[in-house]
Amino acid sequence: RKAAARAAAALEGRTTDGVRIEVSANLGKLAEAAPAVAGGAEGCGLLRTEFLFLDRAVAPDEDEQTADYAAIARALEGRPLVIRLLDIGGDKPAPYLPIAPEENPALGLRGIRVALAHPDILATQLRAVLRAGEAGDVRVMAPMIAKVSELRAVRAAMQVESAALGLGADMPLGVMVETPAAAVMADGLAAECDFLSIGTNDLTQYVLAMDRGNPAVAGSVDGLDPAVLRMIDQCCRGAALHGKPVGVCGGLASDRLAVPILIGLGVTKLSAAPAAVAEVKALVRGVSVDRCRTLAAAVVQVSTAAEVRALAAALLEELG
Ligand code: PEP
Ligand code: MG
Repeated sequence: RKAAARAAAALEGRTTDGVRIEVSANLGKLAEAAPAVAGGAEGCGLLRTEFLFLDRAVAPDEDEQTADYAAIARALEGRPLVIRLLDIGGDKPAPYLPIAPEENPALGLRGIRVALAHPDILATQLRAVLRAGEAGDVRVMAPMIAKVSELRAVRAAMQVESAALGLGADMPLGVMVETPAAAVMADGLAAECDFLSIGTNDLTQYVLAMDRGNPAVAGSVDGLDPAVLRMIDQCCRGAALHGKPVGVCGGLASDRLAVPILIGLGVTKLSAAPAAVAEVKALVRGVSVDRCRTLAAAVVQVSTAAEVRALAAALLEELG
């Protein structure tokens, strides 16, 4: 059994009709990296760097961040490492970052908005990420993007820091699609970034206008709602116009019912919770993109999440 699991972990994510679907893991710290790889992760599609920043009195400096990111890159042994820029604010406060109390934190200063409001923090993190690029296949990703102008500001800051470090401008920069604005503007974003990664947790909350942390609506904040799937569809179409890859790093990438739908909509990278990686990869390896497309075409036509689930369950049933 153990040998079989090890052999399966070494296989790449590829559908039965030969389409490459990269299956990687979401990580929050170094200790998770090696076990994720052993479990079959083909890299890290989302490093939540805020875990390095929370619960401390002072922000980690450039050298400490560089060391942390480089150690994770090395643990991945050349596999891609997507480092997400600090995603604090809203529900994730950090003591040394004074964000005034807000009436609507989910709609306030959070994600990339915090970084753009604190250019020093952004510059320090970008320098650390760029320096860690020596240690592996490092890429950078901006959270909570709502406007092409925000992407441009991050790109500009990255160029300044690369030049200051005497590095080339070749580290890939991606955007997270977590707002309806980003999904709708995916073509404009794709024209100016290197990859898109859909954060389905926040995208679901903002498409449905339901707080993902509020128990009163928890039962309805459903990533398989057809409204969310139509947003993902639109995002994939926009990105395809510029030939840019779309990944999913939110919870849907760990959901068996969602995986074939996402593949059918055009998603080619799935970054799942480490515990879900093996199962997601096995699913990818057992299905055809052709069949996934039929499913995706059907789910964007139905009216309820229950109908979406029934269609996806029928596909899983076929696979046995
Ligand atoms: C998401 O919103 O789907 C996501 C991956 O980011 P987080 O869950 O860290 O907000
Ligand atoms: Mg998010």
